[in-house]
Amino acid sequence: MSVLGNFIGGKQVASNSGRTATVFNPATGEKRFDVALSSADETRAAIANAQEAFASWSKVTPLNRARVMFKFKELVEKHADELAELITSEHGKVFSDAKGELTRGLEVVEFACGIPHLVKGEHSLNVGRDVDSYSQMMPMGVCAGISPFNFPAMVPMWMFPVAIACGNTFVMKPSEKDPSTPLRLAELLKEAGLPDGVFNVVNGDKESVDVLLTDERIQAVSFVGSTPIAEYIYSTASAHGKRVQALGGAKNHMVIMPDADPGQVVSSLMGAAYGSAGERCMAISVAVCVGDEVADKLINDLKTEIAGMKVGAGMNPDEPHMGPLVTREHADKVLSYINQGVSEGATLVVDGRDFVVTGNENGYFVGPTLFDHVKPGMRIYDEEIFGPVLSVVRVESYEEAVQLINDHEYGNGTAIFTRDGDTARQFTETVQVGMIGVNVPIPVPMAFHSFGGWKRSLFGPLHMHGPDGVRFYTRMKTITARWPTGLRAGAEFSMPTMK
Ligand code: NAD
Repeated sequence: MSVLGNFIGGKQVASNSGRTATVFNPATGEKRFDVALSSADETRAAIANAQEAFASWSKVTPLNRARVMFKFKELVEKHADELAELITSEHGKVFSDAKGELTRGLEVVEFACGIPHLVKGEHSLNVGRDVDSYSQMMPMGVCAGISPFNFPAMVPMWMFPVAIACGNTFVMKPSEKDPSTPLRLAELLKEAGLPDGVFNVVNGDKESVDVLLTDERIQAVSFVGSTPIAEYIYSTASAHGKRVQALGGAKNHMVIMPDADPGQVVSSLMGAAYGSAGERCMAISVAVCVGDEVADKLINDLKTEIAGMKVGAGMNPDEPHMGPLVTREHADKVLSYINQGVSEGATLVVDGRDFVVTGNENGYFVGPTLFDHVKPGMRIYDEEIFGPVLSVVRVESYEEAVQLINDHEYGNGTAIFTRDGDTARQFTETVQVGMIGVNVPIPVPMAFHSFGGWKRSLFGPLHMHGPDGVRFYTRMKTITARWPTGLRAGAEFSMPTMK
């Protein structure tokens, strides 16, 4: 079986590093193939290609860069089933969810199609007599992206479409757990007319990442993954003079007020907690019930809904609600959190351990799990589990709910369910979180807004895609100009300290 390599300079390139990782099908536990863990030199070769391509790509007009994006969008749509199947067979999420991920990625491509409008800069006529001033948004140079396993298409597509459309070239380092989709996207970009070397994919681990963080040719680094690595990426790349946006982990709370619509709450929570087997940075993992009555009803409703859930292989035509976890190792980690929750005294209402899917006995399945009476200080509350485990926390008041959220180390997403506009407004104003839903359980911003959390869910000042994405991948140049006619006419413009 051949080893999945890299995409450098417009073509597939085998790796000679001699190091590999294995990619599995999580639904069956079978090995799919090995993927290269590229060497530092191979990573440098990708950077060199990107550096060379920058000279001409940065001169391509924004309109023509946008035309490549339009064509790329068409090609991704044409190959959507094939791409979604790749995602499902390596990540495990169900096919419809994989297609949903592609759609969210494509929305960023659509945003990038508007690049001529987004980088048109600012102009001031007559800042002095016959003197004009204008700002232009210049590309940065070679940018790097490092992505997590849980959105193998969408997260890279949060990064490279905007970067490339802004005139940069790019080196992408995907997750070694599900690396095929970014490689396929690289082929489609080439087919869309992107010149060789503008988009490169290097498969690898810390060895490649460290080159991207330290090589002086890299100007900006975008990262999405767990908080400890995000912090490392931010501190290392910043210390090497790079612009960095590093998005980290999450523990998203959903507050349920006594006046919330119970039907809406339970259906929203089921998707938000168990969709994609909880492997979403915007998944709701904590339901904060204000009052015991709200909690008792919610637990009962969830028990009924969970009993009706279909769990199975993501490609199963029976359309399961939830697939397996990404690797055996990750499934074991989630199971150990469930054991921990029991030993810490939380009430295990629905137990997802020892969960077997008939016909897929070797798949990495953990069943939907529900805990009640979870409290701060328990590891299942304090830490990110990243699996199908929902914790119910009972509080007595709205104020207590907000305090819980604001005291937590993460601040990625949160939601409140209520019919009271005043409470919702107070919540959105007070809560220390980057993305907030009002009766919306997973408030992922659209591509033309920016995506990012607060606190230890994001390191760096700028969020991803939308207006912040354009700011991140460009730097401003401001020109102040007068022309000989103005000089002859005695143009007036002087710094305040000069005559
Ligand atoms: P991860 O941090 O293990 O890996 C992310 C990337 O970093 C991968 O490409 C990996 O190869 C690389 N990496 C891992 N260890 C490294 C090291 N020591 N040095 C350098 N690079 C290293 O994350 P994951 O398990 O792939 O993804 C899940 C995590 O991502 C969760 O914590 C989730 O919350 C987070 N996530 C966050 C967001 C967000 O928007 N905030 C979105 C998606 C996922």
